[in-house]
This record gives sequence, C-alpha cells and structure tokens, in this order.
Amino acid sequence: MTEKILGIDLGTTNSEVALYEDGKVTIIAGPDGKMLPSYVGLDDKGGLLVGAAAMNQYVLNPERTIKSIKRRMGQTTPIALGDTSYSPQEISAMILRQLKLIAEDYIGSPVRKAVITVPAFFSDAQRQATREAGEIAGLEVVKMINEPTAATLVYESSHKGSKKVLVYDLGGGTFDVSVVQLEDGVIEVIASHGNNALGGDDFDAIIEQMIVEYLEQEKEITDISRQARARIHRAAENAKKQLSAHPFAMIEEEYLLEKDGIPFHLSMELARHDYEDMIAPLLDETFDAIHLVLKDAGLIVSDIDEILLVGGSTRTAIVQQRLEEEFGMPPRFEVDPDLCVASGAALQAAMIAGEEVRAILVDVTPYTFGTSAIGEIDGEMTLDMFVPLIKKNSPVPVTRSEVFYTASDQQEAVNVTVYQGEARDATENIEVGSFLIKGLQKRRAGSEIIATFSLDTNGLLQVSAKEKATGLEKSISIANALSSYSAESLQAARKKVARLFDDDDETPAEVSAGNQSATSNSKRVQANAVIDKARGLFDAASEDDREDMIDLIEAINAALSAGDEDELQGQLDELSEIIFYLES
Ligand code: AMP
Repeated sequence: MTEKILGIDLGTTNSEVALYEDGKVTIIAGPDGKMLPSYVGLDDKGGLLVGAAAMNQYVLNPERTIKSIKRRMGQTTPIALGDTSYSPQEISAMILRQLKLIAEDYIGSPVRKAVITVPAFFSDAQRQATREAGEIAGLEVVKMINEPTAATLVYESSHKGSKKVLVYDLGGGTFDVSVVQLEDGVIEVIASHGNNALGGDDFDAIIEQMIVEYLEQEKEITDISRQARARIHRAAENAKKQLSAHPFAMIEEEYLLEKDGIPFHLSMELARHDYEDMIAPLLDETFDAIHLVLKDAGLIVSDIDEILLVGGSTRTAIVQQRLEEEFGMPPRFEVDPDLCVASGAALQAAMIAGEEVRAILVDVTPYTFGTSAIGEIDGEMTLDMFVPLIKKNSPVPVTRSEVFYTASDQQEAVNVTVYQGEARDATENIEVGSFLIKGLQKRRAGSEIIATFSLDTNGLLQVSAKEKATGLEKSISIANALSSYSAESLQAARKKVARLFDDDDETPAEVSAGNQSATSNSKRVQANAVIDKARGLFDAASEDDREDMIDLIEAINAALSAGDEDELQGQLDELSEIIFYLES
C-alpha cells in the first residue's frame, strides 16, 4: 500500500484537505463540511476554536478571533490571542492541525505528509513560513505547489502537447490571475498578478453599505447595533450568492432592530443588473490585472487556449460573462471552484506517492439549454435570439433563472420554448419542449417573467415561468434531456434545410436581400411580435378564429417576403383585431 499524502489548500477565507483514493479525489469533510473557515479564536473560557465556531464569533468578539492569517505569512509581527502572542506560522499551524485531525479521523490512522498550495506570487519568506506552519502542525511538507498549477493539474492531468491556460482565481479576500504553460505534462506558471485585498468580501461590503444607506436615508434609522450589523452582513452575502443563479434576491431580516420602540423588519429586493453595476469597478480591476499578466507573459488574448475558474466568487454570473466576452470562449468551471485547488494538491500528492493518477471526472451537462427572446443577432432584431440559461459543461445538478420582459402592452400570454444547442438563432437549436403561460395581468409591456431551468443528474429538466408581479406560474418537466434527441435533431435539421430551399423557391437571392431592407427592421420585429402573440392564443381561440389567424400569419409572412409594407400593415391590423377580441 502506498503511503497516504494529503493535499491541502491553505486559503485566506477557507481551507480544504483532500486525498486521492480508489482512482478519485475525495475532499474530506469535517464537522464544518468540506470547507474549514480559516479562522482561529478563543471561546469565553479560553478554549481554542478553529473553523466555523471561530468565524461565528468574529463579529461579536473580534478581539479574540483571527481571520485572514494567510495575508500575514512571512511577517514577523506577533499576533495576540488571549494572553499569549503567536507568530503567523503558529496560527496557520492551528488550521493545518485541524485539517490533519479531520483527515486522520476519516482515514482511521495517523498521516504525516502533505502537499500544500501557495499563491504563485508568494515570496520565498512566505513559502518558508508556510512550510514551517506545516512542520509545527506535525506535517512534513513534501512539496509546495502554486495554486494555479494545482488548478491546471485538475483540468489537464492527462494533457500531452503544448497549451497556454489562464487561471482566474477570485476568492473571498484575494484575487490572482496567472498564465500557465503546459508542455508535455510539465506545468509552469509563466506570469502572475493579483490583488491581495480584493474578493467576494468586498462584494458583500458593497451590498451591506447599500442596506445601511437604505436604513439611514429612507427609514431614518441611524442606530444600528452590532448584532444587527452582523445580520446585515450575513444577509448581504446570501443575497450575493442568490444573484449568481437568479435575477433577483430578496433581503429579508425579521425583527432586525427597533425604531422608536417598534420592531423593524427589513425587506428589500436587489436586482442582479443593479448589483452588477455596483461591483463593476472591482471587476474592472481584475480585467486590468489580466492585461498586465498577458503583457508580462508576452502574450495576447488570442494566445490563450483555455480559461479556468478558481475561487468561490467566480460563481458570480457577470464574471463568467465578461471573461467569455473578452476571450471569445467560455471559461471552464466543471470542477467546484472552491475545491479545485485542494483537488490539484491531492493529485500532486498521489503522484509523489507513486500512484497512477487518472483525470478527475465530474457530472456535467454536455448541452446548453435555454429559451428564446426578442433580441439582436449581428445587429438584426429577431424574435428568436437564443438565451442560454444552463450552459454546456455546467456541473449538475444545476438551477438557473433569468428575467424576461413582456413585449407588448396588455400581453396576456407568453409562450416559452425550451431549446438545446449552441446556435445564437434559437430556431437552429433543437426544440425540446414548450408551454404557454396564460392569464397574465394585463400590464404595460416590460412586465417581468422569471424563467427557471433546473437540470438534475438523471437528465430531468424542469422549466418554469413565473409572472413576478402575481406569482402566476406554469412549468414542464422534460425527461431524458441529456439524451441525444435523434428524432428531434433530424426534424430541426430538416426544417433548417427546408428554409434555405423555401427562400430560393420563392424569391431569387438578390431580390430577397433587397426586399429585406425594404421592410424596416422595426416593422419586421413588430410583425413577429404580433405573430408570436397570436400563436400564444391558439389554444384559447375557437377553431374558426384559429384558422383566420393562421391565414393572416401566412399573409403577413408573404407581405414580409415581398417587402409590401401597405399589405403588411393591413394584415397586421386584422390580426391585432382578433387578438384584441380574444384577449378582452
Ligand atoms: P474561496 O475563498 O475560494 O473559498 O471563496 C469564498 C468566496 O466565494 C466568499 O466571498 C463567498 O461569499 C463566495 N461565494 C461562494 N459561493 C458563491 C456564489 N454562489 N456566488 C458568488 N460568490 C460566492
């Protein structure tokens, strides 16, 4: 039996311990779960607290709690805890010792060796301090590897050939970006940049500040107790996490405080797009660092073959979106970004122990799922812009929501079509289901509809749409969403090809192009919106009305192809009249 060597990610906010066994990596869970908060403290009787217990008392007892010790590694200033002072190595050793105990409890025997990860920018003094922390904890540090190297190892452990990888690591309190070069199995960090004081904690602080301003300015509450602050802090972080998967977050804290002797309940909503505006300057900083690191590595954006996401804050939707826009390819996030570095350390540890290491397997969806909306493709307005909700390679189970807006005033129904595929034109993807949500409150255009997609490990896709104002909801379940849909693919392909031929049949290419511009874009969009609305009412209409609507839709399409605006308007008016009659 080979000797067990642990892989440890000693993080600023959280730390993890992992072990490679039976051909896979296990992140070993302790009483706090898989992530041990990197906090050390003393309870009111002077007993040592490590992990969640220390973190939970931080707000109330900051004088006997230590956080973010990683930032002080390599410094010599002693840190007071109770009546004693400790070196940063000694405090870190308390966290390492706790991880060692968690691992020994799991394995059932003592462990003496570990691979520990460090940031790529750590100086010799900081590395030396980390090694000493390991030794104080009773661990021989057989190797220290850079965090981006560990992450790359997870994704590329069986890679042959040459590749350049950008590792974007945004954690709770730190940000690093590195360019890693892979050359026939050798992984090397060629440039690294970062900000030791930028991370998810700053996002929390921005939301916290927004809540405090709301209390002070709109509710005239200025006396916010320490306890209330602590609750606001937690509520802010929860809201931030919710916004990674949903377009709105409710911030609700009952009995938060008292105003003039009357209990005050906090209840406010934060929209994702507002939050994204609030954190934009911080994200800009991370993109400045990306450009610096590329410059240092002598590379340009297009030289990068892969982007890997590391650190809990990379779950933020706008982070992934901006990286995709910048590099023109989706970043990879199959492996849990909180656990990726520890997993890489465990792989490295197994290699040192002489084990044959296999690539890490995670359950991901091989397809993108989404719906369609009015939007722009290459500058052209269309009704069929594909809006992906669950992206290819997302780990399953996964749930994602997105907000959509009704297109016309008094709209009573919305048709939700679910597609699988990658094409920007939804109709070129495979339709896997659709449903109609009827009886919407008749409001002005722009009323919010929230679509939610949930995909589980068995390939069951559940899609729901909810009118935000009323809670009116409709949903469908699609079994086997991960199967290949051969029949449907065939049908979609047939439709696609047929469309090309139809165009040729009816109008020669040149004329068609000319006529397209003859009908203004806005007319085209308006026509399509009316058609969509009519289709949404098919179920509710009598047979006669339905037939009339179908005839009118055909006539509208013909007028669009012919570029005949007068004819188009006449037909549109007639169709709108039927819609009005059906809706009222
Ligand atoms: P790490 O230091 O890598 O463990 O990352 C911790 C940070 O990730 C904390 O600021 C968390 O609030 C943040 N985080 C965890 N889950 C999410 C999420 N779903 N969306 C946004 N941030 C998250």
